[in-house]
Amino acid sequence: MIYFQSLNKNDLADLLLPLGRVKEERDLRDLPEGDERNSLLKKIEQKKIKQAMMRAKQIYHWVYQRYVTDWDQMTDLAKEIREWMKANVTIYRLNETYAKQSLDGTFKFLWQLHDQKTIESVIIPAALREKIGDEVVATLEDGKRYSGIETEKAGLDNDLNEDSWARLTACISSQVGCAMACKFCLTGVQGLDRSLEAHEIVTQVLELRMRAPITNIVFMGMGEPLHNVKNIIKACQIMLDEDGMNFSKRKVTVSTSGLVPGIEELYKHTDVSLAISLNSSTDEQRSQIMPVNKKWPIAELLDACRKVPLGTHRRITFEYVMLKDFNDTIEDAHRVARLLKGIPSKVNLIPFNEHSGADFKRPTDKTVLDFQRILLKQGYTTTVRVSRGRDILAACGQLRSLFGTARGTEKHRDFQPVNE
Ligand code: SF4
Repeated sequence: MIYFQSLNKNDLADLLLPLGRVKEERDLRDLPEGDERNSLLKKIEQKKIKQAMMRAKQIYHWVYQRYVTDWDQMTDLAKEIREWMKANVTIYRLNETYAKQSLDGTFKFLWQLHDQKTIESVIIPAALREKIGDEVVATLEDGKRYSGIETEKAGLDNDLNEDSWARLTACISSQVGCAMACKFCLTGVQGLDRSLEAHEIVTQVLELRMRAPITNIVFMGMGEPLHNVKNIIKACQIMLDEDGMNFSKRKVTVSTSGLVPGIEELYKHTDVSLAISLNSSTDEQRSQIMPVNKKWPIAELLDACRKVPLGTHRRITFEYVMLKDFNDTIEDAHRVARLLKGIPSKVNLIPFNEHSGADFKRPTDKTVLDFQRILLKQGYTTTVRVSRGRDILAACGQLRSLFGTARGTEKHRDFQPVNE
């Protein structure tokens, strides 16, 4: 059985091609071998390709834009096509084991896969719109306010209704567990169980979109996306397809711990946005908390970043998890500023979210703000992430497979489902 969500539009059109019927085929019957027959054959082939692509678009619209998952309801498709799809292609669904909402609006979902393994995805709301005077204004976590056309420029959804979210980000998983073993991350404690297939990645977004009008996607859930780069590329193609999920490349961000060959591979096939989990200002420091650094040290990683074809007005986001008394000094801030010189970048500081899988502590607000001030002074756009969903362990570095089989799972049962 083929999973629909594993097919990009061209794959789907290829599958539909043999089902094509065009009226010119009848004329072939009486036509002898020769030039005329060959040119008719060519014409038929071209028509069938066009027809298959049109059908692929129709089906994409039904599933990704109208959220219809029953072939029988796709009424503008010929019955024969629907029957064939029903027999051969499954529209994959994830089984929602539970969903829990944080006090700040963040929603965490636990999904069960067909092999009983589980993954998590999170919806992070930001920039609530409200009416101030005559204007509808969206306010971001850092206090900046946007209205009218500025809203769109700031990368927010420019639908000017009050009492709605201008940005609703889906944070999705790429693997069950993770092999990268970053010392500050709960998923890293689990180890890797398996990588997700393209259809399992795409379906996380589809399921979330059936529940909420998602505007942005970040691959910052469980797993190292570039350790599963082939499936990530396929999933990104589907997410960006204008007949599919139709996300802009600026609104889909792949975040990596620094798998250099994966960065190169990703940009051969797609041009989504990139985030690098930097977290240190020296190799010595980084290797202590991120084993990946031993293989691809900071200089190599930043070299790969310099080669990313960013285009105009695009920047790479560097994430920096701040760990108390480890990487949070003034000297660290100055070193980070020097490292990023020449790379169009913005820095996102993430004060550590404490959890039972790591001994690190969260730095004080003053330490974080001092660090930020230095980077701002050096000309880097630097934000401090207001962590969302900490009360339900949905914040950065806190995701894991609750019922997974990976190592460490039982030891770290912090979060209990509501109805357990
Ligand atoms: S931070 Fe990311 S790459 Fe590192 S262990 Fe956690 S999930 Fe894996």
